[in-house]
Amino acid sequence: LSADEFDRRHIWRPYASMTAAPPLHRITDAQGVYLTRVDGGRMIDAMSSWWCMAHGHRRPEIVAAMTAQLQRMPHVMFGGLTHDPATELAQRLVRLLPPGLDCIFYADSGSVAVEVALKMARQAQAARGHATRTMFASARGGYHGDTWKAMSLCDPETGMHGHFGGSLQPQFFVRRPPVAFGDAWIEDPALNGLQEVETLFAEQAGRIAGFIIEPVVQGAGGMRFYHPRYLAGLRRLCDAAGVLLIFDEVATGFGRTGRMFAMEHAGVWPDIICLGKALTGGHITFAATVASRTVAEAIAGGSPGLLMHGPTFMGNPLACAAACASLDLLQTGAWRDDVARIEAGLTIGLAPARDMPAVADVRVLGAIGVVEMRSPIDVDRAHARAVASGVYLRPFGRLLYTMPPFITSDRELEQIVTEMLNICVIESEDV
Ligand code: PMP
Repeated sequence: LSADEFDRRHIWRPYASMTAAPPLHRITDAQGVYLTRVDGGRMIDAMSSWWCMAHGHRRPEIVAAMTAQLQRMPHVMFGGLTHDPATELAQRLVRLLPPGLDCIFYADSGSVAVEVALKMARQAQAARGHATRTMFASARGGYHGDTWKAMSLCDPETGMHGHFGGSLQPQFFVRRPPVAFGDAWIEDPALNGLQEVETLFAEQAGRIAGFIIEPVVQGAGGMRFYHPRYLAGLRRLCDAAGVLLIFDEVATGFGRTGRMFAMEHAGVWPDIICLGKALTGGHITFAATVASRTVAEAIAGGSPGLLMHGPTFMGNPLACAAACASLDLLQTGAWRDDVARIEAGLTIGLAPARDMPAVADVRVLGAIGVVEMRSPIDVDRAHARAVASGVYLRPFGRLLYTMPPFITSDRELEQIVTEMLNICVIESEDV
């Protein structure tokens, strides 16, 4: 068997069967915004390898920090032991996050960060004597990860729910936040989605532990940007109903939307926040769940008292060192100019797509550019075209999108935009 044939036969890929043969590219090297294939061809990683490579691949500052840590101590158990990289990262995160959000749990993936947030919420409610608050609520259009509880809080229409024959725990869903980012806010709660939340909280009084939502950008569930004012209303309703508010910033955190955290567009802070992906500049898997002191003290001071989670690789020093180096890069603030430049480039560059027959909508926020088609994209055709032109894009359903590394140059961005427009043109020929 060739390496690719062996790979197809023996290795699962994300959301793919082992028998189908979607295009597979063997990458031998990644540097800056470029991926190099085994055939020597180069392509721009227009996906930032799924949101995480904010500073580009193999960023020297991060590689140096990881190399130094690797030579000293790649891993040590976190039970009863600690180390400087963990403490230093916690200090940086506490400085970066709003006051009060300062009790950090190190997780190993975004999904686990979400699981831990849900456990924290449930345990804090139980410790406060709210035994019946066992359920969670979320908005349709959301995505929170692939573990069981996280899946149960993904929009049922993502298709996950159908695959598991009713074994996902039922949760409560309100409709997607209906007012788009950039549109005028609608005060009427019947129209802005908040009345539905209020009604849910009233009907299910005393049953809901927490409400989880991706602030401002709903990512994998549809790449939609909603009005930040929704979050202010949600915060108010959660407070009134005794529901803990959880923000999932796994995809949006660390600059992607033009703010350090997407919640800054709203100026609203949650009780618990989930971080991942770009936390290490994408250089190694890592995530964190950060709770408010109030939530943490409820868990620690009450019954059952212990936070029931403790993964083997918790607080991995190599990951902590990578995250510290990545946060140092963000501290200079240069990323703000880069993300603003990319936002402007995507806004101007993708504008012509608006007039194309196949295109339903074009959305840009920070370093995220989305074209939504009227019908499903011929994914293989689009993908093959882009790759042949040196751009790695992964269209998904009706969505064609990019979230390039912040270091993407104007010329490279132009290449990405050109390929996206080409795909729009070809799709439009089919209309
Ligand atoms: N939450 C959000 C908003 C995400 O986008 C993702 C990953 N796409 C996750 C959680 C899960 O993260 P991971 O894939 O690292 O488990």
